[in-house]
Amino acid sequence: MALVKCPDCGKMFSERIAACPDCGCPVEFATKEEPKVVKYRKYSSVQEAINFCDFSQFKFAKKSIEAAEELITSDEDIYYASTCMMANNPYSGPLKTSMDLKDNNSTGVFILTSKQISYVSKSFSDSIYKQFTYSDVVSTDSASGMLPNRAPLRITCKNDILIVYLDKDDLQKVTGMITSLRSN
Ligand SMILES: [Zn+2]
Repeated sequence: MALVKCPDCGKMFSERIAACPDCGCPVEFATKEEPKVVKYRKYSSVQEAINFCDFSQFKFAKKSIEAAEELITSDEDIYYASTCMMANNPYSGPLKTSMDLKDNNSTGVFILTSKQISYVSKSFSDSIYKQFTYSDVVSTDSASGMLPNRAPLRITCKNDILIVYLDKDDLQKVTGMITSLRSN
C-alpha cells in the first residue's frame, strides 16, 4: 500500500482512500511519498568503520585494510566494514553451515559504501579484489552457525558470487542495507 501526501495539510494517507482524512482534499491532488533517503552512519575511513562495526576484528588484516582504504574514493560514503574470511571457491548450491576446507578461505575486509560492495584481501603473496555495484546484486542469502560467532553471507551477483563470514549479529543488518541500497 503506497502512501500519498496531502498537498493542503501535509498528512500522509493511503492512495486507496478517496480523500485526505484530515481535510478532505481529493486523493487525485495528492503526491506519492518520496523514495526513502538512505540514512546510515557514515564513517570517515575503513578502519573507523571496522572499529565500530567489527568487535572481533582480525589483527592480521592490516595490509587488507590499507588496500581497502585506497580502493574507496572520496565521493563515496562508507556505511559498513568488517574484517572477515571469504570462500575463495564460492559455490551456488545450498549455503553450507560448516566451514569446508575445500572452499579455500582467505582473510580480508568486507565493505559497504554508497557506491559499491567490496572485498579486499592482501597479503605478502596474494591480492584478491572483488567489487560489485548494488545493481549487480541478484540475491543474498545467509546461514546460521559455523564458527562460534561468524556465519556465511552469500551475495549472488550477475557474474560472480561472494561468500563472506560475518559476525552473526551483523547478518540481518548487512542484508537489510544491501536490499535498501539496491532499491535506491
Ligand atoms: Zn489534508
